[in-house]
Amino acid sequence: MDSEWKEELAGRITTADGLAEVVELTDDERAAAEGRVFAVTPYYLSVVRNSAALRKTVIPRSAEKYRAIGELADPLGEENHRVAPNLIHTYPDKVLFLVTAFCPVYCRYCTRSRMVGKNEFKTTSTFEESFQYIESHPEIRDVLISGGDPLAMTDDALDKLLSRIRAVPHVRMVRIGSKVPAVLPQRITDGLCSILRKHRVWLSLHFIHPDELTPETKTACRKLADSGIGMFSQTVLLKGVNDDTQTLVELFYGLLEINVKPYYLLQCDPVSGSAHFRTPVEKGIELIQSLHGKISGPAIPQYVIDAPGGGGKVPILSSAQIRREGDEVVFQNYEGREYRYPDPM
Ligand code: SF4
Repeated sequence: MDSEWKEELAGRITTADGLAEVVELTDDERAAAEGRVFAVTPYYLSVVRNSAALRKTVIPRSAEKYRAIGELADPLGEENHRVAPNLIHTYPDKVLFLVTAFCPVYCRYCTRSRMVGKNEFKTTSTFEESFQYIESHPEIRDVLISGGDPLAMTDDALDKLLSRIRAVPHVRMVRIGSKVPAVLPQRITDGLCSILRKHRVWLSLHFIHPDELTPETKTACRKLADSGIGMFSQTVLLKGVNDDTQTLVELFYGLLEINVKPYYLLQCDPVSGSAHFRTPVEKGIELIQSLHGKISGPAIPQYVIDAPGGGGKVPILSSAQIRREGDEVVFQNYEGREYRYPDPM
């Protein structure tokens, strides 16, 4: 039903008192929630209240206040590659189109926390410059629409956006990055599926824990699959949330069962206030290696580090690819350039 997801959004919980009506907050959580911007849908909070792991990812904690060495508001240096008000151009053939600053739920480890939930984000009236940039750069073949969460936009707005991008002859792939099937599965309506199918969109979905694979989320993903929408997932590796083999096995098998191919296991970006979420890189290597031989090949994603400063995603297969220099891990990207990930011992 089209109204159901809008009611969920209208009922988002954004205050400490609102949270306390549903979950019993610790003193630390209450104090942190009172001083920070956060949001969670009633649906996702009903999932989170029964999941000690997911609770850490949406309810603020005081540890967020601390900025560890090397952490930045824009760890991937996206702002240095901004070519239009809503467009980031990093890889030669790919652009990142940031169409909204709104998300149904604000993840506490969000790489784009510098903009997500902030009112000063540019509105659709500024999309024109981004469209023109894409149209005038024939090397662009892949457009990743992200934000914020694009699937929180209306059907009409999405249809217009996708129509314009799909009209560019050299664009061969259009992807949307979204966490909606996990946090607002009611949004996956017949109308939305038909728009995504019409524009041949791939979905890059954000899942972090098997507790997210509720009957509602499974139904939403199966509906997308039945509509012919290709889906893959990105999982951020998070300390105390999903940094153990059993949790990852459950998540990745669960995703395959709903037609979502596990694609990336991402080392958590060094965004300001994320130290309590970040695992050592050595732990990520150990985990990805532990999956081989335990689950079928299609269920295993690539473990990647997004090179700080904008070097792109670098697949890490073994410890031979990295070198530790004190509190940093050093590695090379696809161009052979060296990048440093701040990883305090
Ligand atoms: S869904 Fe993505 S963009 Fe939105 S808050 Fe979470 S990590 Fe950030």
